[in-house]
Amino acid sequence: MRPEILYPFFAETVSLPGVGARIAANLEKVAGLRIIDLLWHLPVDIIDRRSGPALKDILFDQIVTLEITVGKHDPAPGKSKKPYRVWCHDDTGSIQLVFFHPRRDYILSQLPEGETRLISGKVEVYNGQLQMSHPDYMVAIEKRAEIPEIGPVYPLTAGVSGKVMARIINDAVKKAVILPEWLDQSLLKREKWPDWNSSLNNVHNPKSVDDVLSGSISRVRLAYDELLANQLALEIMRRQTKKKQGRIMVPSEKLVSQVLANLPYELTGAQKRTLVEIKQDMAEPSAMMRLLQGDVGSGKTVVALLAMLIAAENGSQAAILAPTEILARQHYVSLSKLVGNSDVNVGVLTGRDKGKSREKILDDLASGKIDILVGTHAIFQKDVNYHDLSMAVIDEQHRFGVEQRISLSAKGKSGVGMDILAMTATPIPRTLTLTVYGDMDVSRLDEKPPGRTPIDTRVMALNRIDEIISATQRAVSNGARVYWVCPLVEESEILDLAAAKERHRHLSQIFGERVGLVHGKMKPKEKDAVMMRFVAGDIDILVATTVIEVGVDVPEATVMIIEHAERFGLSQLHQLRGRVGRGGDKSTCLLLYGATLGATAKARLKIMRETEDGFIISEEDLKLRGAGEVLGTRQSGLPKFRIASMEDHNYLIPMARDDARLILEKDPDLASDRGKNLRILLYLFERDEGVKYLKSG
Ligand code: ADP
Ligand code: MG
Repeated sequence: MRPEILYPFFAETVSLPGVGARIAANLEKVAGLRIIDLLWHLPVDIIDRRSGPALKDILFDQIVTLEITVGKHDPAPGKSKKPYRVWCHDDTGSIQLVFFHPRRDYILSQLPEGETRLISGKVEVYNGQLQMSHPDYMVAIEKRAEIPEIGPVYPLTAGVSGKVMARIINDAVKKAVILPEWLDQSLLKREKWPDWNSSLNNVHNPKSVDDVLSGSISRVRLAYDELLANQLALEIMRRQTKKKQGRIMVPSEKLVSQVLANLPYELTGAQKRTLVEIKQDMAEPSAMMRLLQGDVGSGKTVVALLAMLIAAENGSQAAILAPTEILARQHYVSLSKLVGNSDVNVGVLTGRDKGKSREKILDDLASGKIDILVGTHAIFQKDVNYHDLSMAVIDEQHRFGVEQRISLSAKGKSGVGMDILAMTATPIPRTLTLTVYGDMDVSRLDEKPPGRTPIDTRVMALNRIDEIISATQRAVSNGARVYWVCPLVEESEILDLAAAKERHRHLSQIFGERVGLVHGKMKPKEKDAVMMRFVAGDIDILVATTVIEVGVDVPEATVMIIEHAERFGLSQLHQLRGRVGRGGDKSTCLLLYGATLGATAKARLKIMRETEDGFIISEEDLKLRGAGEVLGTRQSGLPKFRIASMEDHNYLIPMARDDARLILEKDPDLASDRGKNLRILLYLFERDEGVKYLKSG
């Protein structure tokens, strides 16, 4: 339950003076519905009204505050579309104030002829005449104080002017109740950070351009608060899972050695190191919570298998959860191959299994005949009972939510923590790992199995399409299978889809029947059917929007063509390129760019040419773009940060993490005075999911 002191922060913006339903709806588009959303809506620039030149010295497009004498009014006649003009002057020149659709009585009352006024706004030149349209301020000389010398400039939205936005946010800031300090005094001293309320005031009342930069101390303080809230929440969850009694699993090496003997290759150094980490986790009395991060093709499957074998050696069962039917079937095939004719039994269960065959699988699960079960979400449905499930592997973990993890965990013996090994093929930068996966221990498979031929990556202009098609014809006649990817993003979905369909039609004219199309608007069944035809080799060219399943393995596919590569994030390009280069044959990736490339796009495509290492690519991606875009926003699983910038504040993340660990070590239930203040912090940043696990304090 949210502490009372925070109620004003979470009140709706309509409770602010001058904010009606219409303005609130507009504010929601750019910030949010609640006062707190306005507080997190930070200025991007300042507006400086201190300049007050004589009219003859004005530079146009300048923001100025002028002392002028009001002259003649020139109202637009009748229904004319012409604006209402007011002539004004000082000793050195004249200026026109211009109003479109004004309320006449208002103008007359504000600008009485012959009076002196202060007006502030932006000066333009129109037909050689100085003019200012809709001044921001028009006040009598003695009311100069009403014109702020320096004010914030906020990102705007239609229907709310800069001036109104600044006024509303200023009102919102005034509603911010004084909050008790949750940061450590020595940290505040060392960093010279102001208290929370002062920081909030400072960021919304910038005094210079430096104050709106992410490095200003007030912003840094607020960013640290947010990162600390994030780390505390993760650490609370982590301690919660660790608290549950796990099982001590000691490898007997019986099954592991059988399977290792059957392996056609030697494990890489990274695979061995990761296995040691997993073994240690499993041997501990607490439950394992480990994330295995490794590029496509880095060999996660065999690591998962060996871990599951340890569970089997201890007489229990393991399950591996895949996001799609195809992936589950593929895992089943490769795991069956890997276990060979050892004493391990692998089974598979997906939504496709019905009737008798499903019953048989359920029986074998309940009796313990199946040691390792592969499948989709079907494996944790209600009527699925395990003999003794002790370990769950979750492949492509970002495709699942916490609820699915919990459902699967619930299939274990009651009161016993399930060992969880989550896997992801989306490498993310080290610093971000802490903000996303801070509740897990992380192993990195940062070494590829030997013997891979590097993918020949080229960057080409899309207008060389004829050459590209001839090259594709040569490749296809040599037996290659080709992915042809077209971008599809939500903002331009309809156009993008049309472009993909058009490309499919175009290629079909050249290549005939052997061209397929998959896109995100198709039903999963239809998509699967086309994918299966590509896997089987019934089609040579697969035109696809970015829906190509991560992890689907078509070793015969050796050409990846990506249209408008400049529109993709680096990590996305990396994921796509990872679809080829899986067999023994040399593979090619063509990155086609549509328009003239900007500097950033150029730099990105260059990195793609230079490296295939997903970890390096993710670090570069972070440098070139914001964190929100690092993984392609949709599949990122990145928490949303309102203030902290992953590029500029990432040095704070390890600090926040150490802080969080120390805090909870000393005060596990956040019951001390500072602990209570930290609870307020968690609620303030809406990271309160974890608070329910703390003893009420
Ligand atoms: P991931 O799931 O991480 O994308 P996989 O587990 O599917 O990768 O492995 C990719 C390929 O590499 C598979 O064909 C697998 O047999 C092979 N492989 C895995 N480990 C090794 C190794 N140590 N040496 C050689 N090949 C390996
Ligand atoms: Mg895999």
